[in-house]
Amino acid sequence: MNQTRWTVLGAGSLGCLWGGYLNMAGMPVTLIHRHSVPAPDNLTLTPFQGNAEIPFQAELTTAKECPTESISQLIVATKAPDALDAVRGIAHALTPDAAILVLQNGMGAQQAIAEAFNDYAIIAACITDGAYRTSPGHVVHAGKGVSRIGALNEKGLQAEAAVLAQLQKMDLATEHCPDIYQALWNKLAINIAINGLTALDQCLNGELRVPARLARVKKLCQETEQVMRALQLSLPEEGLFYLAQSVIEGTAHNRSSMLQDTQKGKSTEIEYINGYLLDQAHTLGIDTPENQAVYDAVIARFH
Ligand code: NAP
Repeated sequence: MNQTRWTVLGAGSLGCLWGGYLNMAGMPVTLIHRHSVPAPDNLTLTPFQGNAEIPFQAELTTAKECPTESISQLIVATKAPDALDAVRGIAHALTPDAAILVLQNGMGAQQAIAEAFNDYAIIAACITDGAYRTSPGHVVHAGKGVSRIGALNEKGLQAEAAVLAQLQKMDLATEHCPDIYQALWNKLAINIAINGLTALDQCLNGELRVPARLARVKKLCQETEQVMRALQLSLPEEGLFYLAQSVIEGTAHNRSSMLQDTQKGKSTEIEYINGYLLDQAHTLGIDTPENQAVYDAVIARFH
């Protein structure tokens, strides 16, 4: 039986990770790159805790080169600020029944795609795996997590079971998430508490465990709780601050994705993390001064 091809938009860390695992599970893959171009006969994935670089196959192309109505399964693996424009750039190549799987961190990019491309099946993934590139086309699966998958629109609901059945062939943990909005918010809340501060103080997650920094983490969590409560979202029984502290403890040696972006001289996803909270708080009339301070400082320093 012919396998349906997966097209991965963005040949970065996560794009190569998902493209690599999909191909290793026997599925044909196309990787759409932009500036940093991997070599097609030299794509490798180092599995979690593995030593060997395992080769995988993918067709490499650009959005412009994709033929009209040639993509029925698209994975959007760009950073959040690039995601909507990237999908617009490939819209000509989508088949009318295409499924679009969005992998972005934070919130806002997924919703913008769901709004602009509501005629397609839109499905989001909330990912706790970690990956990094050693060079274009070479990816290391650095942290084992799980990807929770759930529909963002009506067509997504119809397509999610078939999409998940294919994803579950990968050697990457995936599971169905009946309330992906809540799952994305849960992850967002932790990112709000940790990412901006680690970027500003250029510190590891565990280095937030000093009183002055924890006091800021606490304020960020309290503001997020107010917004989540107003949106009628569930909150952890023990409170967000407690949860954030246990994540900080459990990931003490990790460099947050925002710290990594700033250390590579890249712009950050702050707009889709603390910035998203600020937008929601503004609409709800809730004051969130600590989030504003973190947001303003990250923008001033890194953008
Ligand atoms: P990344 O390594 O920077 O990869 C993003 C890729 O998208 C880059 O290769 C970039 O190309 C490409 N891109 C941007 N616009 C494009 C366009 N219009 N057409 C084609 N390619 C385009 O970022 P990442 O780490 O994979 O992260 C992707 C998303 O997943 C982020 O939202 C991130 O927060 C989330 N995430 C990442 C991880 C992780 O461990 N890496 C884990 C969980 C979630 P250029 O390099 O040419 O600019």
